[in-house]
Amino acid sequence: MQKPGFTDFERLSAIVQASDDAIISRDLNGTITSWNSSAEKIFGYTTKEANGKHISIIIPEEFIAEEERIVKKIKNNGGMKKYEAIRKRKDGSRIFTSHIITPIKDANRKVIGTSKIISDISDQKALYAAIVNASDDAICSKTLDGIITSWNFGAEKMFGYKKEAVIGKHINVIVPQSRIKEEISVRNKIKNGKRVDPFETIRLRKDGGEVNVSLTVSPIYNQSEKITGASIIAKDISKRKEIEEQHQLYTEKLEELNRYRDDFIAMASHELNTPLTVIKVNLQILEEIMQGDENVSFIFNSTRQVNKLTDLISHLLDVSKIQAGILRLNYESFDLKILLKEICRNIHSSNPSYKIRIERTTKPLIIHADKERIEHVISNLLLNAIKYSPDLKEIVVKPSIKNRHLQVSVTDNGIGIPKKDLEKIFERFYRVQGIPSTYSGSGIGLFICSEIIAGHGGEIWAESKLGVGSTLTFSIPVRKVY
Ligand code: ADP
Repeated sequence: MQKPGFTDFERLSAIVQASDDAIISRDLNGTITSWNSSAEKIFGYTTKEANGKHISIIIPEEFIAEEERIVKKIKNNGGMKKYEAIRKRKDGSRIFTSHIITPIKDANRKVIGTSKIISDISDQKALYAAIVNASDDAICSKTLDGIITSWNFGAEKMFGYKKEAVIGKHINVIVPQSRIKEEISVRNKIKNGKRVDPFETIRLRKDGGEVNVSLTVSPIYNQSEKITGASIIAKDISKRKEIEEQHQLYTEKLEELNRYRDDFIAMASHELNTPLTVIKVNLQILEEIMQGDENVSFIFNSTRQVNKLTDLISHLLDVSKIQAGILRLNYESFDLKILLKEICRNIHSSNPSYKIRIERTTKPLIIHADKERIEHVISNLLLNAIKYSPDLKEIVVKPSIKNRHLQVSVTDNGIGIPKKDLEKIFERFYRVQGIPSTYSGSGIGLFICSEIIAGHGGEIWAESKLGVGSTLTFSIPVRKVY
C-alpha cells in the first residue's frame, strides 16, 4: 500500500540512501551520476566530491581497462553481471569489493550508463587469507606461464622456500625434472578450460628432498571470466605413502613366509611319505609271514598308526594348499549312489563292528563335482561319526536332491557336540574343549571338508544334542558348471 505523502521516487531514494552497500551510477563516458551515503563511507568521497568526477577516482590504474570492457559488454548485451574486484579509497588504500552491475536505459531503451551495487568484502577476504595462511596444506597460485603469484605459510613449511624468495619465480623450482612434462600438461589443461582431477605426484623441497603430494589444481578467472592462472593446493601425503610402502613390504614378507611354509609342508610331507610307504610295505610282508601268530596284533596296531600318519600328512598338505588358494577342484559327472556304496564298503571293512546304513532314494543322484574330494568329505564325516560314537552300532547316511542341490547327511548316536561349538568345529585346528583324550585328532578334518564344500559353492553344518548324537550335513549345487 502506498504511504501518503511519498512518491515512488522518494521512497526508492530512501532505500538507496539507507543501504549498507555503495550504490553508484555512471554514464557511458565514466562520469559519476549518483553516489549514496554508503559509497561515501566505503570510498571516503562525499557525494558532492564524487558526482561529476570520472569513475577512475576509485579504480586502480591497472584495472581501468578491464572495467571499461565490462561496461562495454553490458552496453552491448544488456543483462546483469556479478564480479569481484579491487578498488581504491580517497586515501589511496585498496579494498576488495564485490560488484553487481546493471545497465541504465533511457525512455527509448538505449543504454545510457550503468548502475552498480558495491559491497566491501575486505573483511571476508581477510578471513579467507587468514584461513589460507593457517592451513597446513601448501596453497599457492601461478600464472598460465607458471610464474608463482602467491605462496602461503603451509607452502613455506612444505617446500622450505620463503614467500619473498619464490613469488615471481617459475613453479619449476619445486618440480622435479622427471615431472616437468606432467606440470606442462596440467597447465595446458587449465589454459584450455579443461578439468584437472586431483592427482598424486612428487615435488621438490629447497634442500633437494622429495615430497609426496596430492595436488588439486583449479583455474583462476579474472573479472572478464578469462582464465588467468591456476591455484594449487598441495597436501603432504609422505606419511601415508610411507605407511603404504611399509604395508606393501609386510605383505610381500608375509607372502614370502607363506611360500616358505607351503614349500616346507610340501617338502616335509613328501619326505615323510616316502619312509612311511616303505614301513607300510614291510608291515604287510611281516603280516603275511606272521599269519596265525599270536603277536600279529602288534603288526595290525602298527599298520593302523601308520595309516593315521599317512592321513595326517595328506590333511596337512590339503591345509597348505587351501591356505595358498591352490586347492583346485576337478569336476566330473558321476553317480553319487555308486560312490556312497563304495565308501561305506571301505569304511565298514576297516570298522566291521559298525553298521553303515544308506537311506534309499528313488531319484538318481548324478552330480557334477570333484569326485575324489566329495569322497574325502563323506569319508571324513563317517570316520568322525565312528570316532565320536564309542557305543554306536549304526550310522545313517541320507542322500537327497532338493532344489537342484545334493544334500548328504551323516547321523550318529555318539557323544554329541555342545551348541556353542556347532559352527566352530569347521575352523582350522578347532577341537571341542574337554572331550576325553582318548578321542585323538588334529582339528583339521572338518576345516578341509568345509573348504571343499565352499569350493563347490555349497554349505556344511552340524546339528547335535549332547549325549544323544550328531548329524553333519552338506549341500552342493547339482548342476553348477564352473
Ligand atoms: P578332529 O576329529 O581331528 O579333531 P575335525 O575337524 O574332524 O577334527 O573335527 C573337529 C571337532 O569337532 C572334533 O575335535 C570334535 O570335537 C568335533 N566333532 C566332529 N564330528 C563329531 C561327531 N560326529 N560327534 C561329536 N563331535 C564331533
